[in-house]
Amino acid sequence: MSVIETDEQKQLRAAVAALAERYNYVDYVLPKARRHEPLTELWSEASKLGFLGVNLPEEYGGGGAGIYELALVQEELAAKGCGLLLVVVSPAICGTIIAKYGTEAQKQQWLPGIADGSKIMAFGITEADAGSNSHRISTVAKRDGDDWILSGSKIFISGVDQADAVLVVARTEDAKTGKLRPALFIVPTDTPGFVKTPMEMDIIEPDHQFTLFLDDVRLPADALVGEPEAALMQLFAGLNPERILGAAMAVGLGRYALDAAVRYARERTVWKDPIGAHQGIAHPLAQCKIELELAKLMMQKAAALYDSGDDFGAAEAANMAKYAGAEASIKTIDQAIQTHGGGGLTQEYGLASLLGAARIARVAPVSREMILNFVSQHSLGLPRSY
Ligand SMILES: Cc1cc2nc3c(=O)[nH]c(=O)nc-3n(C[C@H](O)[C@H](O)[C@H](O)COP(=O)(O)OP(=O)(O)OC[C@H]3O[C@@H](n4cnc5c(N)ncnc54)[C@H](O)[C@@H]3O)c2cc1C
Repeated sequence: MSVIETDEQKQLRAAVAALAERYNYVDYVLPKARRHEPLTELWSEASKLGFLGVNLPEEYGGGGAGIYELALVQEELAAKGCGLLLVVVSPAICGTIIAKYGTEAQKQQWLPGIADGSKIMAFGITEADAGSNSHRISTVAKRDGDDWILSGSKIFISGVDQADAVLVVARTEDAKTGKLRPALFIVPTDTPGFVKTPMEMDIIEPDHQFTLFLDDVRLPADALVGEPEAALMQLFAGLNPERILGAAMAVGLGRYALDAAVRYARERTVWKDPIGAHQGIAHPLAQCKIELELAKLMMQKAAALYDSGDDFGAAEAANMAKYAGAEASIKTIDQAIQTHGGGGLTQEYGLASLLGAARIARVAPVSREMILNFVSQHSLGLPRSY
């Protein structure tokens, strides 16, 4: 792994930043976010330019690069305030899992559309009663001849209204032991028995979350992704990219807030010098800069490990990167608001509206506390208390 990016990666950053500049936060994203409207125009233009499928195999219409490049795309979009939540889900989780474990027919059916953005696949693992304890999920898939019958419910599933299908994590019954084990199913959103209900969230962001009710949803045999036996491995093939992309979005958002704060601190003068000359303003911003850079470095490490095929090494780094990115971005947005004084709470600067969205990264896709549990147990070897 090199910490110095290649010329191609630098060019990709510059191209994404140029696109994101045109779809800036205050003029494009914020009005849409206030109306909870998806960023369709940006999604479609970014896809046409090949940015959103950059990690997917070339033979299925992707860019043939890695999660590193997709994270770089997400970071640069978010650095202009226009990160795309569904990039974390559609090309990063679902695209990766299907590319690695899907059948040839599933790859043909889904990857070209995910790569060019014309198809979106949401991802559903969370359930109300299981929460962070995914081992407790109770959505069950039973065999009925060659078909599968899926029943259960999901909560907090992002972007189902924009999605053509949801990759649902369920359980199948082991014929021999009767034990339930995880399995992944592609469920088109127009399948009879698939019911989505928007949740009343209190975050200013373009995408919606949904509860799903799967009422004996009948699926063909080929809805199952990969082997039921390898489901956990398949799941982690998608969850590490999810954390890396979550970290990238958080780091980018932090960069956006820091840029706004620095710009304001250079200009705003209420004594004889701009407020940025006061260490009470400058030092917290310098700390934010350091913490964002450190989070970014861990995100790059996680992506490089993942792309090298080291799933287990990537898991520790991806968890740390998601933790560090979320904390640095929330702190930076808060400090950017403080730097703007009363202005930080006005609609003109649109900074206060970012707080809720930034906090998503502390809770999802895995909460801060569950990451601390992971590091306590796996990195430090401490006993598990739950
Ligand atoms: C905006 C948003 C978008 C989302 N999108 C999706 C999506 O697209 N698909 C999807 O499947 N899910 C999605 N989620 C769900 C998200 O992954 C969960 O909210 C998250 O995993 C936490 O689960 P929970 O909300 O049930 O919290 P809980 O598990 O109920 O936890 C509540 C609190 O207790 C803490 N806690 C729980 N167990 C422990 C423990 N053992 N030790 C210490 N602390 C603990 C948690 O850290 C948390 O602070 C989304 C959530 C949000 C908010």
